[in-house]
Amino acid sequence: MGTIGQIGLGVLGQLFAGHLLKAGPLLVFDVAPDRVAEAVARGATPRTSAAEVASDVDVVVLSLPNPEAVRAVMTGPGGVLEGAGSGTVILDTSTIDPATSREMYAQSSASGARYLDAPVSGGAPGGAGTDGARAATISFMVGGDRDAFDDAQGVMRLLGQRSFYLGPAGSGSTVKLISNLMAGLHNLVAAEAFVLGAAAGFSPETLFEVFDGTDAKSYWLTDYFAPRIRRRDFEPGFTVDLQYKDHRLAAELAQQLQVPALLNGLAVQLYQLLRAQGLGGKDLVEAVNQLGRMAGVDIYEPRSQPG
Ligand code: NAD
Repeated sequence: MGTIGQIGLGVLGQLFAGHLLKAGPLLVFDVAPDRVAEAVARGATPRTSAAEVASDVDVVVLSLPNPEAVRAVMTGPGGVLEGAGSGTVILDTSTIDPATSREMYAQSSASGARYLDAPVSGGAPGGAGTDGARAATISFMVGGDRDAFDDAQGVMRLLGQRSFYLGPAGSGSTVKLISNLMAGLHNLVAAEAFVLGAAAGFSPETLFEVFDGTDAKSYWLTDYFAPRIRRRDFEPGFTVDLQYKDHRLAAELAQQLQVPALLNGLAVQLYQLLRAQGLGGKDLVEAVNQLGRMAGVDIYEPRSQPG
């Protein structure tokens, strides 16, 4: 499998670093010194730039917040492409737009490196969101060259359970945006339903019990929404800011492909509303609290049943 590097040590990157360290030495870089210190405390070796990481590894994993950060880390001064040698595999797990993925692939190929757009999601039962990354059960959606995908299998198996080769550069990012379009809408549907339920006098627990056996059941409901609502845990996890970014990128994709994405448009607006309330850093399940506040309903204090 060779030597591995991890660039971006946020929520996802720290979990990845923990798994990768089990396989051997791990070189790391992040612009935030406290994030680097956290990984170093667990045994990782720090480098002072992305280029320095890339020059000393066979596979470099990127876990960055958005397309702008990916572009900066890949092509900016001290970036991955300054350091990557011929054949280095760049496994980009960031969720970005397919056009940027294709551009990063082209620039990498020009310098001999092998770029894969390889965003991640989900996992085995009980594995939605960061739980899947923690348990190493996530799925990879991958675009790029097949040989690079084959060579990245070892690393992907350390981090997850399933990897799907979806076609040329940009294919992984495309399918991931479509997946998150669905996940973000599932979350808003759950938020609306549980606020309505509480207004009608029903506790979250009653609804979880009943919906486990009705057509309302979904992976999102049982594996992401329910555990967090039960724990009253609104810390990320997956932030409102990141979910908003994914709907924004899905809207751009739909526009480029000239198809309507009506419900995605609503999701862009609703997550923007949460951000405008200063809630961008909260987990996306915070939507249920915000909708509740707007409706004068607290899901944890259901109104009495009418009649
Ligand atoms: P995060 O914001 O917690 O972490 C991003 C990290 O990148 C931060 O530590 C930040 O300091 C670092 N960074 C930003 N710019 C940088 C730069 N120029 N150079 C080096 N480091 C830089 O985000 P996250 O939750 O870890 O998510 C990472 C990516 O994975 C996002 O694209 C997100 O959409 C996607 N994702 C996240 C999850 C999740 O559950 N958190 C699940 C699936 C996909």
